[in-house]
Amino acid sequence: MDPDRIVVLAGGVGGAKFVRGLRALGRRDPAGSPAITVVVNTGDDLWLAGLRVTPDLDSLMYALAGVNDDERGWGRAGESERVSAELTAYGVGWPWFTLGDLDLGTHIARSALLREGLPLSAAVDRLTARWPLDVRLLPATDDEVETYVVTAEGELHFEEWWVRTRAALPALAFRQHGVETATAAPGVREAILAADAVLLAPSNPVVSIGTILGIPGIREALRDTGAPVVGLSPVIGGAVVRGMADACLTAIGVATDAAAVARHYGARTEGGLLDGWLVDEADAAAVDGLAATGIPARAVPLWMTDDDATAEMAAAALRLAGR
Ligand code: GDP
Ligand code: CA
Repeated sequence: MDPDRIVVLAGGVGGAKFVRGLRALGRRDPAGSPAITVVVNTGDDLWLAGLRVTPDLDSLMYALAGVNDDERGWGRAGESERVSAELTAYGVGWPWFTLGDLDLGTHIARSALLREGLPLSAAVDRLTARWPLDVRLLPATDDEVETYVVTAEGELHFEEWWVRTRAALPALAFRQHGVETATAAPGVREAILAADAVLLAPSNPVVSIGTILGIPGIREALRDTGAPVVGLSPVIGGAVVRGMADACLTAIGVATDAAAVARHYGARTEGGLLDGWLVDEADAAAVDGLAATGIPARAVPLWMTDDDATAEMAAAALRLAGR
């Protein structure tokens, strides 16, 4: 079976790189619509300076639209920061969380749509309509469920912990404020249930994928779907490649190790999530052990150096799903 309806669970920058590679495979669904639906982490979202900011959705939108800042790794290319400087002069917002002027345009537009009463998913539809993404972006939830980090200095919003403290303040636990009453956004469960393949992007397993899985109904949909669920390791050779995700893994007692992350997600046959797992060639020694725990695994290059290399990774994930 050729998987043509592909659902990806993803965080921001790692998720965006992966989805660009997957999109490069040029798959269409049977109706000719975009084959790829991305369920995006919304746990990093926050209200700042009166605006709703959705970092992971924007990382995906900008990267898929080709207007992201590749060098800096986040935000828009060709950005200026005049408005942020004014906000700082007024003592509004977070001085260490600089939002570029073009990026602020997105946040103003989104906040205007939300204030008109649109749910986030409808606001995302409106914003993404501007760009020819050829990918459907769905926030995991329309509800405001925000990740907080429990530290010795109290609870901090995830973005404050990540950006201000550079994840240096040890995390004791992660809390999803508001999760109890949240539901999956319209279309999320439906997309997972109707999928031919579900891929877990090589995103942060704790605060990107873990946060999506915490939204009531999503984990159940992943258990109930007939589609194989295949993940790609965000850890290569015992390191998280880019960023500070090891601090998140440590906090939940998972080793920074490709096989440990797979065991954390668990084998579908044992009540977990995974029907398959890709590790980098550097971790090929883990493949047999994973198979013995019920997780069929393959070792392929997992460095997302460019869209072609990433497309190869995505193709390998789809092969494992379609096996
Ligand atoms: P964020 O929301 O911007 O933090 O992005 P994600 O959660 O989507 O992805 C972040 C994770 O991507 C990092 O913690 C890395 O482990 C992973 N990552 C980044 N670059 C690569 C890469 O080239 N290959 C692999 N396998 N993982 C990567
Ligand atoms: Ca993120």
